[in-house]
Amino acid sequence: MNKKFTVGVLAFQGDVSEHIEAVKDAAKKLRKDVDVVAVREKKDLAGLNGLILPGGESTTFYKLCQREGIFGEIKKIRNILGTCAGAIMLSKNARNKTKDQETLELMDIEVARNAYGRQNESFEAEIKTSLGEMHAFFIRAPKITRVGKNVKVLAKYNGEIIACEEESKGKYYLALAFHPELTTTLFHEHFLRRIFAAPRP
Ligand code: GLN
Repeated sequence: MNKKFTVGVLAFQGDVSEHIEAVKDAAKKLRKDVDVVAVREKKDLAGLNGLILPGGESTTFYKLCQREGIFGEIKKIRNILGTCAGAIMLSKNARNKTKDQETLELMDIEVARNAYGRQNESFEAEIKTSLGEMHAFFIRAPKITRVGKNVKVLAKYNGEIIACEEESKGKYYLALAFHPELTTTLFHEHFLRRIFAAPRP
């Protein structure tokens, strides 16, 4: 039987509809049945095979996750893709956090919020990744300043790590400093392939 998979997109702010479309397109390319749900409250997390934390403002994500009582629940999800603010959320250690901000501390990476600086707040570039070349938007992007020994680097730009993944103890995390949902489905396909291959909960 063709088992159906469900992927959630945290839907407080950011490119929610773009991520939903990217997951649907990626699933179509992989010829798999995937449901996509917008996650706003606890009940939306039930039965998810994976979750996408989009870009936006990591301080706001933290506050809204706390308000909805889902911060701790998100930590239980086995497969998480975090882009930009979502990558900050995934990190064990984030520099330049606001004083009342916390991260999920799931992935063994250190990030520096807003590290590309003010003049350079946003830029676009052609990037080479281990999944292929693509156009990428960096919007007040964080720098990934350190990765743990189990973290695999998937792309660098100007010497900086901009994409990496970690698999350990049945958990899989994928962190991107840029916004793939605007230009490509390659990372969504990669994330879905990982979900399809993972042992069932
Ligand atoms: N600067 C934002 C933060 O600190 C991230 C920007 C983005 O997600 N595009 O959360």
